[in-house]
Amino acid sequence: MEERLNLLIQLQEIDGAIRARQEEKRKLPELLAALERKSEANKAELDSVREALETAQKSKRDRDRDLEEGAQKVEKLKSRTPDIKTNKEYTALLKEIETVEQENKTIEDDILKLMEKIDAAAAEIKAAEARSAQEAAEIDAERKQFEESMAKLESELAADGRARDEIASRIDAALLAKYHKRLVQQGGRVVVEARGESCSGCFMSIPPQIFVNVKKNTEIITCPNCQRILFFKEAIAPKTP
Ligand SMILES: [Zn+2]
Repeated sequence: MEERLNLLIQLQEIDGAIRARQEEKRKLPELLAALERKSEANKAELDSVREALETAQKSKRDRDRDLEEGAQKVEKLKSRTPDIKTNKEYTALLKEIETVEQENKTIEDDILKLMEKIDAAAAEIKAAEARSAQEAAEIDAERKQFEESMAKLESELAADGRARDEIASRIDAALLAKYHKRLVQQGGRVVVEARGESCSGCFMSIPPQIFVNVKKNTEIITCPNCQRILFFKEAIAPKTP
């Protein structure tokens, strides 16, 4: 195999690996952001149940005060009894006491309901805290994994870069410049296999007289249609960088 062809194939392989790793690296911060959003959602959920507990506690304090006032009202009404002169007044007073007592009963029912709500909210907070702690541990583990992946990618990219420089240094400047120019134009595929007498870059047939030479892998031959550099696979065993 022609050495320049071999080097170009190696260069293209390593450039593909670099692109894939850079793409992976680009995705990592998005994963981290997703983790942070998850962590914030957990915190918001916890805040919301804590708020529900505080609201129920405040309502209960208000209703406790209402009940205290209601009880005082009943006492005050009852204290009027000795001053009652007529049966009619007495009936009216009893009626009034009954009304206030009825109201107090309603307040007591409210207080019971609020106590149930407070118990439920406290239990929910406990559960949410446990959930949140569990998820925080998972998020920490994922974050650690993220940092490791990032460090691994960085070191792989550094190694790729060194290997790439080494290969590129062995390719003559004009050919390297041509490769670089086409790398962008041809979507990362500058050197392509000639397969079944067709170019695997553009899928057009290669004229037989050109294909005969391509099969030899002894010179730089480009596809007459897409200008990609052609090689023939059966005849080569590319060195892995
Ligand atoms: Zn082609």
